[in-house]
Amino acid sequence: MDFDLPEAHRLLRDSVLSFSRNEIGPRVEQMEADGMFPPDLWSQLGDLGVLGVGIPEECGGSGLDLLAGVVCIEQIARVSGSVALSYGAHTNLCAQNLLRNGSDRQRQTYLPALCSGSAIGALAITEPEAGSDAVSLQLRAVRDGDDYVLNGTKMFITNGPVAQTLIVYAKTDPSANSHGISAFIVESGFAGFSVSRKLEKFGHRASPTGELVFDDCRVPAGNLLGLENEGVAVMFNGLDSERIFLSGEPLGIAEEALQMATAYAKQRKQFGRPIGDFQMIQSKLADMYTSIEAARLLTYRAAVRWQQGAATSMDAAAAILFSAEMATRVCLETMQIQGGYGYLNESPIGRMLADAKLLEIGAGTSEIRRMIIARELLN
Ligand SMILES: Cc1cc2nc3c(=O)[nH]c(=O)nc-3n(C[C@H](O)[C@H](O)[C@H](O)COP(=O)(O)OP(=O)(O)OC[C@H]3O[C@@H](n4cnc5c(N)ncnc54)[C@H](O)[C@@H]3O)c2cc1C
Repeated sequence: MDFDLPEAHRLLRDSVLSFSRNEIGPRVEQMEADGMFPPDLWSQLGDLGVLGVGIPEECGGSGLDLLAGVVCIEQIARVSGSVALSYGAHTNLCAQNLLRNGSDRQRQTYLPALCSGSAIGALAITEPEAGSDAVSLQLRAVRDGDDYVLNGTKMFITNGPVAQTLIVYAKTDPSANSHGISAFIVESGFAGFSVSRKLEKFGHRASPTGELVFDDCRVPAGNLLGLENEGVAVMFNGLDSERIFLSGEPLGIAEEALQMATAYAKQRKQFGRPIGDFQMIQSKLADMYTSIEAARLLTYRAAVRWQQGAATSMDAAAAILFSAEMATRVCLETMQIQGGYGYLNESPIGRMLADAKLLEIGAGTSEIRRMIIARELLN
């Protein structure tokens, strides 16, 4: 057992953190106010090679593995949860799905632009009436000559308002329920596709989230991803790696919060002493550190086990369940340590807390994650 990151991953970690601090950090406040990350940031991330992490070089990517993706999203999240979430939707939910399930032609058509950042990616499963029960989705796809015609609405789609390449799930045989779902690659320029609303949110404000409408949207049959009526396999063959990848975001947010809390505890004086001298503050810091380390071990272990083909759904669900709830607790404690100053908008901890909370909801809620773990324990 080796608990240290391999050297390639340590170098990647340092370069992504340095990029995030220097290039994303100074723009965070403006992008949160704008409700959108700046488009040129995507090509910068592409140049850095992080958009193509886990994608082979022949498809325009930079190779490496799932652990490398976790390290990237973790470091980006230390500076901006919004950019981290949009990065996760682009790189993992969209590009990795295309890599796993796409034909050679589909990979060559779509992956190079996603890896360079000239296209933004998204994944659209959720609908207004289909959330946790994702396979109850209603968006309809009907074959018509060389096309499928899509009708319906998708809800809560990260990057939806700005993406050029979207993976969209639809029912091709409604009578077959989960066995009647198919996945499609949709370009935002296809006739009949539109963004009906950009959604205003509690956190992750610079990660655009949209409601998408498909109104007789014609998708070439060649853009069917995987086989017709086997979309559930496309959806589920990536779920564990998605959960492991996204576990890196709360981890990064919490690491940054602990660093802020520790610095504040050393510098803030009350009763003539730094508040870090008080045992109740020390106890909070110690608990925060311990829970972050536990989340990191769960997450990295799940990534390595997944790479070895040994991860179970329980490993993935446990990593994101613990990481996400841990990040919310750590942000709340950081705010408590910062006292009144932590409650002001001039402290970033309010934004970080709001960002952390989403990670208990998106990509399967905490309740669904607990269900997955319990199901595996009991079977
Ligand atoms: C900012 C943001 C970004 C998102 N990005 C994307 C994206 O890019 N692509 C995408 O497809 N989706 C995305 N989502 C959707 C997200 O995955 C869903 O919100 C999530 O799966 C929960 O669905 P729901 O919101 O409809 O809640 P519901 O499923 O309606 O759940 C409501 C409550 O009931 C609980 N519940 C539901 N079923 C059970 C059960 N069986 N047992 C116990 N409790 C249960 C839930 O845990 C929750 O507490 C995003 C959501 C947000 C908010």
